[in-house]
Amino acid sequence: MVRITINQKTETSMVFATVTPQPTSTTNNIPDNLFTAIEELKQELNAVILAHYYQEPDIQDIADYLGDSLGLSQQAASTDADVILFAGVHFMAETAKILNPHKLVLLPDLNAGCSLADSCPAEQFAKFKAQYPQHIVISYINCTAEIKALSDIICTSSNAVNIVNQIPPEQGIIFAPDKNLGRYVMEQTGRDLVLWDGSCIVHETFSERKIVELKMQHPQAEVLAHPECETPVLRHADYIGSTTALLKYSQHSHNSQFIIVTEPGIIHQMQKETPDNLFIPAPSINNCACNECPYMRLNTLEKVYLALKHRTPEINIPEDIRVKALKPIQKMLAMS
Ligand code: SF4
Repeated sequence: MVRITINQKTETSMVFATVTPQPTSTTNNIPDNLFTAIEELKQELNAVILAHYYQEPDIQDIADYLGDSLGLSQQAASTDADVILFAGVHFMAETAKILNPHKLVLLPDLNAGCSLADSCPAEQFAKFKAQYPQHIVISYINCTAEIKALSDIICTSSNAVNIVNQIPPEQGIIFAPDKNLGRYVMEQTGRDLVLWDGSCIVHETFSERKIVELKMQHPQAEVLAHPECETPVLRHADYIGSTTALLKYSQHSHNSQFIIVTEPGIIHQMQKETPDNLFIPAPSINNCACNECPYMRLNTLEKVYLALKHRTPEINIPEDIRVKALKPIQKMLAMS
C-alpha cells in the first residue's frame, strides 16, 4: 500500500545562501573569449568546475567533471581544489559545501533552485517524520540541507534501489521528497515505503499520450526515462535510470534511435558520445519548453565567469545544520 501525505507546498527561499550581491554583466567587462578567461581564472584560484548534465552545452564543455548527483557528490568529496564552482542548482552546491566546509563553493546564479527541493519544507517535514518515530528517513539528494539534516541516509536516482535493499526488511522507511522516485523504488524493491508528496515540475510535465505518439512515429526507437517521471510515463520506458545510467545505456545499446524522457540537456553528451544516433527529446504536455529545467538553465557561461572573477555568490551553511547533514551523505557514499 502506498501511503502519501498531502503536504501544503510552499514557496521556500534558499535560507542558507549568503546575501552577497550578485554581480551583473552591466557592471563588468565581459571578455570576448569566455572559455579562455574562465580557464585562466580557474588556474589562478585553483578552482574546479563541477557541472550537471542538465546545464547548457557550453557549460558542460568547460566542466572538469560532468555527471549526475551521485558522481558530482563523489567528486566534491574527493577534490583537492581550493574553490568549487558548482554549475548546477542550489542543493547540489550545498552538498558540495557540506562535504567541504573550508572551501569556497560558488553557484553562478543563486536563483538556481529546485521545485522538488522546494516541495519539502523542513518544518512540515519534521512534523510528518514525527508521525513515524520508528521509521528511518531516506532522502533523495534533491532536498535542502535542512532536510538532509533530518535524514538518516541520502540517496540519488543511481543508488536509491541499492540503498533501500540494504535496509533490513522489518525496518520502516520514510522516503522523501520525490513520490515518483519513491514509487519506482517500491516497485523495484517490493518494500512498503512511506512517501512524502513532492515532485519535480520538469519530470511531471511529460505526457504519456505524446510519448505513445512518438513511439508510433519512431517504432524502432527505445524510450529511456528518468525515475522522477510519473508511473504512467515510466510504463512506456524500455530503460529507466539516472542521467548517467541513461547516457551509458545509449552508448552500449545496439539500437540507434532513442526517445529521451528527462531534461534534454543530457542529449548534448549523448550526441557527443554517439554522433550517428538519433535522440528525440520527449515533448512536454503543451509543447512548451517546460521539459527544460528553468532553474538549471539560469546558469550561463557569463555568470560562471563572473562568479569566478568576483568569488561570489558563495554558499554558506550554519555549522550545526552542516554537521547533521553530513552524516547521511557520508552514509550514502559508504553504501554506494
Ligand atoms: S530537473 Fe527537477 S529535480 Fe532537477 S533541478 Fe530541475 S526542478 Fe529540480
